[in-house]
Amino acid sequence: MSTVTIAPPPSTQGPPLQRETTAGNYFVANYPPFAFWTADAVPAFHEALDRPPMPGVPLGLYTHIPFCRKRCHFCYFRVYTDKNADDIKAYLDALLKDLAAYAGKAVLGGRKPRFIYFGGGTPSYLSPDQLRYLTEGMKRLLPWDEATEITFEAEPGTLTDHKLRAIREMGVTRLSLGIEHFDDTILEINGRAHRSKEILRAYGYAREIGFPQINIDLIAGMVEETPGKWQEAVAKAVALEPDSVTIYQMEVPYNTGIYRQMKAEGKLVAPVADWDTKRRWVDEAFRAFEARGYTVTSTTTVVKDPARVKFEYRQGLFSGADLLSIGVASFGHLNGVHYQNHHDFQPYVDAVNAGRLPTYRAYVLPDDERYLREFMLQLKLGSVRIADATAKFGTDPRVRFAGPLATLRDWGFLVASDTHLGLTRRRSSHGGCVGQAGDVP
Ligand code: SF4
Repeated sequence: MSTVTIAPPPSTQGPPLQRETTAGNYFVANYPPFAFWTADAVPAFHEALDRPPMPGVPLGLYTHIPFCRKRCHFCYFRVYTDKNADDIKAYLDALLKDLAAYAGKAVLGGRKPRFIYFGGGTPSYLSPDQLRYLTEGMKRLLPWDEATEITFEAEPGTLTDHKLRAIREMGVTRLSLGIEHFDDTILEINGRAHRSKEILRAYGYAREIGFPQINIDLIAGMVEETPGKWQEAVAKAVALEPDSVTIYQMEVPYNTGIYRQMKAEGKLVAPVADWDTKRRWVDEAFRAFEARGYTVTSTTTVVKDPARVKFEYRQGLFSGADLLSIGVASFGHLNGVHYQNHHDFQPYVDAVNAGRLPTYRAYVLPDDERYLREFMLQLKLGSVRIADATAKFGTDPRVRFAGPLATLRDWGFLVASDTHLGLTRRRSSHGGCVGQAGDVP
């Protein structure tokens, strides 16, 4: 395949990239953005559940566990650090009722989930007994025997040998460790609950137990990050030889501890590295892994053996799979409709206990926006195959998206060949995460 990076014309305006890190989200998690989802569309979502699934659309299952040991200063997710064992039991029962409400719906059409994801919050906050109670109940409602990928997010400080064995026995294929950094001072300043000793202990246990895939998460640009500390963190990550690595760039949304402090001090710029620096750090990390034979497979991910290690959850989500999501604040997509559950603990639990679906807001995706959504999300993987997009949506993406593609070309971000459209790494590293209500346990 011949690829051409189209150079920017000399006199054109550059892209409107922000330099400093100011408050707000930059990750592209979904399309259209959540601000467009409304309570008015909830009845249309409930009607869609009574229709059979679209032919050939696979099903995924997402479960949200909103508990954490402590709230990280950069966290903007709906998490709870004050729930006791009774609250947790009530939540697990609510999750099972939430799932049971879908189990008899036409939308499932006899499908079983092909990929399953436990995100948070911190799924590994649950005890082995709580995990068994939840997952055995889930399997009775919707068997997992056809799932080829089961992902479980874990915070290193919550993991014991005993708990890791229970997680593996659940059938988990990918353990996703929220390491974020190896420097204890940086971990502490950013409010993380774990320390480097716990990372090494948990990683060692997980390797011994033999998870098919261990993914580690890192964040470039945490508070107090320096070039030297980042280099050390990358070297330590490389030395662990993980199966895959996900690297996020620090953003500072409004509902974070960091933003509250900025506001109190009257600051507009966050006390973290600027975007150019963060992009450079991600690039350095990608290069360090590439030098060890890893392959960059998305804006945020490097993989040791792409033939063996897949990200079906991400691939499914970006290609229009149905995603049944249960849990507070979780969001999913069924029969062409996006939906999100109640984002507070008690309204969520009360709704399912009253026999109602806990849907908070929804968005009916018109056919044309389906194309836009999938094209945009797949660009986060690096490139889109023109023939596949044309076959699926009936229009060549070079025609459908001629205007935006021309802009990307003018900025020097477009990589075009006869068969593929993609983004240069410079552009794609300003992309986004694949995430859910919580991505960084
Ligand atoms: S970043 Fe992750 S571990 Fe930290 S509080 Fe948020 S969900 Fe919990």
